Amino acid sequence: MEPIQLFVPTFRIDETLEEIRLCLEKGWTGMGFKTVELEEAWKNYTGLPNAHFLNSATAALHLAVLLLKEHGNWQDGDEIITTPMTFVSTNHAILYEKLTPVFADIDNMLCIDPESLQQRITPKTRAVMYVGLGGNTGQLRKIAQICKQHGLKLILDASHMSGTRWADSGNHIGNETDVSIFSFQAVKNMPSGDSGMICFKETELDAEARKWSWLGINKDTYSRTASQGAYKWYYDVEYPGFKYNGNSIMAAIGLVSLKYLEQDNAYRRQICEWYDLFLKDASNITRVPTSADCIPSRHLYQVEIENRDEVMLALNQAGIYPGVHYRDNTLYQMFAYANGTCPRSMQANDRIISLPLHLRLTYEQTKYISESLIQVVKRNS
Ligand SMILES: *Cc1c(COP(=O)(O)O)cnc(C)c1O
Repeated sequence: MEPIQLFVPTFRIDETLEEIRLCLEKGWTGMGFKTVELEEAWKNYTGLPNAHFLNSATAALHLAVLLLKEHGNWQDGDEIITTPMTFVSTNHAILYEKLTPVFADIDNMLCIDPESLQQRITPKTRAVMYVGLGGNTGQLRKIAQICKQHGLKLILDASHMSGTRWADSGNHIGNETDVSIFSFQAVKNMPSGDSGMICFKETELDAEARKWSWLGINKDTYSRTASQGAYKWYYDVEYPGFKYNGNSIMAAIGLVSLKYLEQDNAYRRQICEWYDLFLKDASNITRVPTSADCIPSRHLYQVEIENRDEVMLALNQAGIYPGVHYRDNTLYQMFAYANGTCPRSMQANDRIISLPLHLRLTYEQTKYISESLIQVVKRNS
């Protein structure tokens, strides 16, 4: 039997190659052309007012923190309240800008718990970094309310949330934040290869982000090429920005992924429904709930179990390769100062497991994975 992997990106190969061919024929593989098309398509799809395409969500997270810090006049050492249950990029972004990550504990959906957040607010708190783990909104609306009450900026690491919508309005998530960041990395639910999108609420910050992502140059090559006259080569540089821009090859891949995102997320939800069905009566398997207020992208399907590491190894024996999202970040050396401050996250750290979830999974495989899990958990408890 073929091993069942955690993630397998699916690309519509012919259609994607056709988009890439357009770049090659035009002789334009860099920023501009398809990156502009993807930015427009993304704004159209999400209803968000601004979108700037970057080489990764990691770069986007950095620019989000950098620009909010600059415009809010934050000082080094000011605090951003964040989650310990995330990929390293989230909290790196805070440190890149010499701010202090303060960890709030998580709820049963593995997202920041509003009560814990409130306990962490100090006069130095400037923002909240929220991660919609697996595409779930968790208690994002409550968090947004708290931010408003306390005058805090809200940064949404929406790396898993491409296509997540509010259940009541049907609107795409992202409008309730100051900035939302999406990842189109290879194994995310809207794959390109490596790229991301930064969506600022304020158009002024979007314009600033475009300069910062292009070395601080105030006019990009594409608009210079498109403009006429002797001064089209002329540009100014205001500060040492970064080379964070996305390119047309990645955008070409992303454009096709976006076209199928609704359909793909619907199938992800179908797989999760099958898992729910097969696992609902299983003892000692706690399914991580999703918030009823959203229609999630379903980047992940997570459960909590005892003896997680033994169970993982036993599943590997059955040809199933699950993952763990994530290790509690306060266990990293660099965040040792926060170790022990988030007991619920620490508990999740030892118990969570992400079951395989990708578009090639079948009903039978989902059933096989569930039955194997039930058996292995029974044996290990
Ligand atoms: C993948 C991921 C990132 C980083 O995304 P890249 O596009 O690979 O830089 C950031 N945050 C979370 C929660 C992620 O899962």
